[in-house]
Amino acid sequence: MPTATAAASSATDALDAADRRFGWHPFTQMREYQDHPRLHLVRGEGSWLIDGEGKRYLDGNASVWTNVHGHNDPDLNRALREQLDQVAHVTLLGLNHPVATELAADLAGLTNGALPRCFYTDNGSNAIEVALKLSFQYWQLIGQDAKRGVISMEGAYHGDTFGTMAVGERSEFHRRFNPWLFAAQTFPSPVHSECAGQVARSDASASLAALKAILERDAATTACLILEPVVQGAAGMVQQPAGFVKAVAALCREYGVHLILDEVFTGFGRLGALTAAEREGVVPDFLCLAKGLAAGYLPLAATLTSEKVYEAFVGKFSEGKTFFHGHTFSGNPLGCAVARASLRKLKPMLASGQVAERAMLLGREMQDAFAGHPHVRAFRQFGLTGSVEFKPASAECWPTDTRAGFQVALAARRHGLIIRPLGDSILFVPPISIQADEVKHLVRAVRLAMDEVLPTLPHASFLSANR
Ligand SMILES: *Cc1c(COP(=O)(O)O)cnc(C)c1O
Repeated sequence: MPTATAAASSATDALDAADRRFGWHPFTQMREYQDHPRLHLVRGEGSWLIDGEGKRYLDGNASVWTNVHGHNDPDLNRALREQLDQVAHVTLLGLNHPVATELAADLAGLTNGALPRCFYTDNGSNAIEVALKLSFQYWQLIGQDAKRGVISMEGAYHGDTFGTMAVGERSEFHRRFNPWLFAAQTFPSPVHSECAGQVARSDASASLAALKAILERDAATTACLILEPVVQGAAGMVQQPAGFVKAVAALCREYGVHLILDEVFTGFGRLGALTAAEREGVVPDFLCLAKGLAAGYLPLAATLTSEKVYEAFVGKFSEGKTFFHGHTFSGNPLGCAVARASLRKLKPMLASGQVAERAMLLGREMQDAFAGHPHVRAFRQFGLTGSVEFKPASAECWPTDTRAGFQVALAARRHGLIIRPLGDSILFVPPISIQADEVKHLVRAVRLAMDEVLPTLPHASFLSANR
């Protein structure tokens, strides 16, 4: 008779073989994926994910920045099951289901009713696409057809669909698709650099002056400006100086250009508040929500907007004002039910100060682990976001294929941590409900992994000499 562990490991082997044969993973070089040990996660419990052999890993990536209350949360599970016993899906195309309305009313509360209209989709890219298309169509509907342009900030990431690629940084990731992207203008990001966790320089004046110049010249032909407020996640947790979002919002208002806030990442506790807009005291024209909306359980997204925008779309069918956009699973009831249960839990959690406390602890732990480290170029933390950038001890950078961040992330698994790299850096994005001892584990495991891996990586000079 095979033992339980032997049976589990042969099941994992079969799964692994099938994954290698049939799988194609997102944002993943499959050669690299095939060449390294793969990890098949079968269960979740709080901040932890568990593999087929029962080994536990802290989810330091919050399952791609989505997880709010941990995995397998009893309250969310109950809300999901109760909805499942009613109905799993009803289209919102010309029809309705109760929980879509209830959640829309909840979401109107995020802006104290300033953005009462909720247009549902099913992922972050689509929430942005909807905001862009609503803005474009709005200006046509009120007879200002010339307002077609989009302004975005350097380093932006708004998704992987064509519209969102067009308004994001033309990075290495998306470069191949440039010939198919519509033109958009960019303005420089503000300076906000840290050294050893201390703010070394913070200056928004050049960025705001450049934006003002663009608006001065082009406001009449610009529909909207899109911004990830306070922290640009995919750029590497790059922060903005205090008051920056408010200043951008004021310029948009002054020049009559819509402000789209992409809070796909920053919403639902990530920066210590329900939204960055609330935190910054800003009301945009469009507020885009996704990742944490359904707490990391189900794909759900929403674009919130004002009654004024909504009204422009209302008329006789023949007037052609209808917004012809919708996704099959827009506003799925299962996702809406989980989102409501998540909000009910998240509000008291934020009010209790727990999230602010964990964020401060994350900052302190990172300071202790990374300040003055010979392999650390920089590190930063804001709310429950963080990043640490690595460097060789005696050269500027490693060759691209050294994959320092990837190697550290692989090694971190041996210390019970799942974490995602970005180039030669590691991004910290734990579940919002992370416990204090788990914050310590998160930083400790990264420190152990980097101390193990980074000194063994070949130096740039050595590699180029031997090429
Ligand atoms: C993840 C992300 C998106 C895209 O969301 P998807 O659900 O992956 O399409 C857009 N904007 C920001 C800021 C994000 O972090």
